[in-house]
Amino acid sequence: MSIDDRSPAAPLHVVAVRAHRHRSPLLRPFVTAARRTDSVAFVVAEVELDGGVVGQGSAAETVAVTGESAATIHEALTGPLGAALTGARGTLPELAARIAGALPGATSAKAALDVALHDAAARAAEVPLVELLGGSTGGELLNDMTVSLEEPEVMARRAREAVDSGEQILKIKLGRDPEEDRRRLDAVLEAAPGVRLRLDANQGWSPEEAIRILTGLEADALPIDLVEQPVAAADLDGLAQVRAAVGLPIMADEAVWTAADARRLVDAGAADLLNIKLAKTGGVREALAIADVAQEAGLTCMIGAMMEPRISITAAAHLAVAHPAITLIDLDPPAWFASPLPGGGYVQDGARLRLLGGPGLGLDLLDPSSDPDGGEH
Ligand SMILES: [Mg+2]
Repeated sequence: MSIDDRSPAAPLHVVAVRAHRHRSPLLRPFVTAARRTDSVAFVVAEVELDGGVVGQGSAAETVAVTGESAATIHEALTGPLGAALTGARGTLPELAARIAGALPGATSAKAALDVALHDAAARAAEVPLVELLGGSTGGELLNDMTVSLEEPEVMARRAREAVDSGEQILKIKLGRDPEEDRRRLDAVLEAAPGVRLRLDANQGWSPEEAIRILTGLEADALPIDLVEQPVAAADLDGLAQVRAAVGLPIMADEAVWTAADARRLVDAGAADLLNIKLAKTGGVREALAIADVAQEAGLTCMIGAMMEPRISITAAAHLAVAHPAITLIDLDPPAWFASPLPGGGYVQDGARLRLLGGPGLGLDLLDPSSDPDGGEH
């Protein structure tokens, strides 16, 4: 499917762009090989169309991943990104292209605005976003639950809690100290027998370490479905080496931000799977373009997210339902947030997630003054 086939031809007129800063504590710390987070600073972007329809998107501060803080996200939205869209008229692809071209980088801020634009366009058309993208609401997706990188006994306890609440797939964060990673996995599996595992080293291993660790796990037939970004993002040869040496499916995450990255990974034979995140792609179209590359090459995609609010997660779920190459989801962040977030969008029963329908993302609009820390700041 071409990108133009996914878009309504009717022109849109953006009358206002707004951005609100929020912060939400997490119920428990989120810890990876790259960072530790106890609360999430995020920004909600709003696009208002003539006629008064409002769409929302969101982006969280992930300095260690995208280089963006809540302050820079807010600054991009109220500066060049807002200026590129305020008062603009055009089709959805034309307006999305304005966002993409407004400034270099700033992919999280762009994603927030692009999702807000798509939410508004779909609300104006009175269809769910998934339908605007050429798919249809319906069907279930199997979500996972992340277990932070902690001491083995803490990870075991989290794994048990997750399985007790109906989770079937755990995403295990590893990669900080390779010698301990096997002990972590053994502790998790002892506490949660029968669960399926996704491993994420967040670039924490050298190719040699990855091959040694993963061949050991394979030899013991651990229930591992995939291994995410075992080595440094820039080391495509290393990733290809690992993929050639082990049978476990290898997923690129930090190495894939664009469709061009996806093509390089395919050409290098470096990945079986690609992890798409809107905060990396800068919006809906580049995310679908990655899935198109994967589909042509016979690869499968997962859609994940940063530790970001329910608005971002619902947008990702719409993309997963819309594109046939996106068959896996990693969308547990809302289960980590302590603060109330907009209702609607989707429901999750145990591990099974389904979209609720309704126009746009299907979410209630988040009240800018709902922030427990005082709204805009
Ligand atoms: Mg990852």
